[in-house]
Amino acid sequence: MRGKKSKCSFSRLEVVLIVCLVLMITLTVVLLVLHFLTKDEPPKESETANYLLGVGRADCTGPVAEVPLMGYANPEQVSGGILTHLYSRAFIVADLDDSRRIVFVSADIGMMSQKVRLEVLKKLKSKYGDLYRQDNVILSGTHTHSGPGGYFQYTLFWITSKGLIRPTLNAIVNGIVKSIDIAHDNMKRGRLFINRGTVENSQINRSPFSYLENPASERSRYSSNTDKEMVMLKMVDEHGEDLGLISWFAVHPVSMNNTNHLVNSDNVGYASYLFEQEKNKGMLPGEGSFVAAFASSNLGDVSPNTRGPFCANTGESCDNPQSSCPIGGATMCMATGPGKDMFESTRIIGKNIYSKAWELYEKASQEITGPLSSAHQWVNMSDVTVELNATHTVKTCKPALGHSFAAGTIDGVGAFNFTQGSVEGDPFWDQIRDQLLGEPSNETKACHEPKPILFSTGEMTKPRPWHPDIVDVQIVTIGSLAIIAVPGEFTTMSGRRLREAVQKEFDSHGAPRTHVVIAGLCNVYTHYIATYEEYQVQRYEAASTIYGPHTLSAYIQLYRGLARAIATNTTQDLPCGPEPPLFSIGNLTLLPALSAERAPANKTFGDVLQEVKQQYQVGGVAEVTFVGANPRNSAENATEHNFLTVERYANISDSWHVVQNDASWDTRFYWTKGSQGQSTVKIQWHIPHDTEPGIYRIQYLGHYKKRLSLFRTITVPFGGTSSTFEVTTP
Ligand code: ZN
Repeated sequence: MRGKKSKCSFSRLEVVLIVCLVLMITLTVVLLVLHFLTKDEPPKESETANYLLGVGRADCTGPVAEVPLMGYANPEQVSGGILTHLYSRAFIVADLDDSRRIVFVSADIGMMSQKVRLEVLKKLKSKYGDLYRQDNVILSGTHTHSGPGGYFQYTLFWITSKGLIRPTLNAIVNGIVKSIDIAHDNMKRGRLFINRGTVENSQINRSPFSYLENPASERSRYSSNTDKEMVMLKMVDEHGEDLGLISWFAVHPVSMNNTNHLVNSDNVGYASYLFEQEKNKGMLPGEGSFVAAFASSNLGDVSPNTRGPFCANTGESCDNPQSSCPIGGATMCMATGPGKDMFESTRIIGKNIYSKAWELYEKASQEITGPLSSAHQWVNMSDVTVELNATHTVKTCKPALGHSFAAGTIDGVGAFNFTQGSVEGDPFWDQIRDQLLGEPSNETKACHEPKPILFSTGEMTKPRPWHPDIVDVQIVTIGSLAIIAVPGEFTTMSGRRLREAVQKEFDSHGAPRTHVVIAGLCNVYTHYIATYEEYQVQRYEAASTIYGPHTLSAYIQLYRGLARAIATNTTQDLPCGPEPPLFSIGNLTLLPALSAERAPANKTFGDVLQEVKQQYQVGGVAEVTFVGANPRNSAENATEHNFLTVERYANISDSWHVVQNDASWDTRFYWTKGSQGQSTVKIQWHIPHDTEPGIYRIQYLGHYKKRLSLFRTITVPFGGTSSTFEVTTP
């Protein structure tokens, strides 16, 4: 009765409300159940860390005065100041249980040298025992041609570097080790993503006539005579926070040409700078935890000077097999562009590379997972027997450089009457060579055919061997990514053949590696590696293929062996090979000694000689000249010296704040040696268009040598400051 009564007493509105209430309760219960169900579920596979990751960056600049720059082989092109710092960038990847590790280092230097590598590994061993070894550490150079030279143990490199230069060697070795230390100390759980894309308008093939010697059937498989693809490895921590990246792209960092005297990291260094500045917001150049490496690849015949070769004297094209001009021959044929000068060209190419990397980084979604492996061998490259097929074997040769080596390239020409594409020697130079250095043996001559030998470096041993016999071959893999560390500059087609052979080897063992990259200029420098067909026409890259016509075939055989060992889990059975020598070299340098310095009468070090103007507009160049001292003093004193600051006045706190330093691409520091121990320093600030208007000043920080007695000097720090100036917007 009651029920009936109550039932009957519900109005239509009440029914709707009750239904609504029931629905809401049901929905809440369902949501709660779902919530707890998801909470109890383990996190999805794709959201967990797969590796331990560490990144680190450390300075490796070295002496920025009087030291020949490494790359163009021109002893007259010595450092005379600094445009940017050089850095070693290190990346460590470990399994989650830390059972295996691999290290990849990209340093802003011309190329890795055997001496640097052996000294780095020695230091790592004393610090970390067997954690970091020759098999799991890759050391790669970006190939900037604007870094100090003098860090080699083979004689050929002493000739153009004025010997062995300790301050350079120490800066590189210590910088690399420090970058690895920083990465080691910052290891955290994280994830790796890979992405690939095409970089346009940033390369030309500088030996297209060599490239055309490769079989038409092979060339037809590719749309370009350079590899335009960039491969980018992105690193984030387990929460998705950015850690860093490594990109591999094939281009010579020779946007800065052989008239430059400012130490800098060239186009790929500018790409690193832009990426790191963007990610390390609010930090000064060279600071901040995000590390972006733009590492070298198969750049052997790839130039960034996209306007191509023209005769410097007449303006005619010299895009011919000898790269020779009607007047002046090969010494007049140079490539430039795309900018109005080398500074602008560096920025344009660097920006292109950076922009593509940024896009690839933002969009990277393909995750790298799977185990780590590494395989390494030392090989006597003077004596490798290559099985071309079942019945035909060939051999590599003792190292030798051909005549066209001395011709240089359209990125940096040589001297005298040498031209590219020489398949016959020059009786004049051959005679001089025979008398000074000795005649090449018939065996070596025959082995290198058709290369006419200029320097038979493999037969020259005084005061030390002129070229290495023993080189490193090495592959590391991270899941589906294989990194082939090569000891030199592979040409475009050489690189393609090597990648393909390694990929096939992995495939044939059912252990595919989807991503195979070539890391260039690794571990020890052995110049170029051209294909057998390119070798026949003996342009610069072929004349510099030092182990003879079958160098590439030998490497393909060797790297396939490493891939096989990784794929079949037999790396422990790989023979180590003959250990390379580490020569102890005393003081062997032609650098002028550092002696006591003087300021002009009534002046002292750091005094201003030529003041800034009172006002500049953004886009202008503020410039000040100081009484200077040799910057080598500062490199001797500290490995990470900063030579300048640009400071902005803050009204509120009545204080000065550093807004730029010498690692910035907007500042230039020129040192000019005068007579009688005097010198000057000119600092320029190319004021960027986005600079905040305000009051600024420029500081110079240096060290000078002071005489204490006849035989004793000390190094004294000093500073100087410009007048203040105003920066305005138009
Ligand atoms: Zn090169």
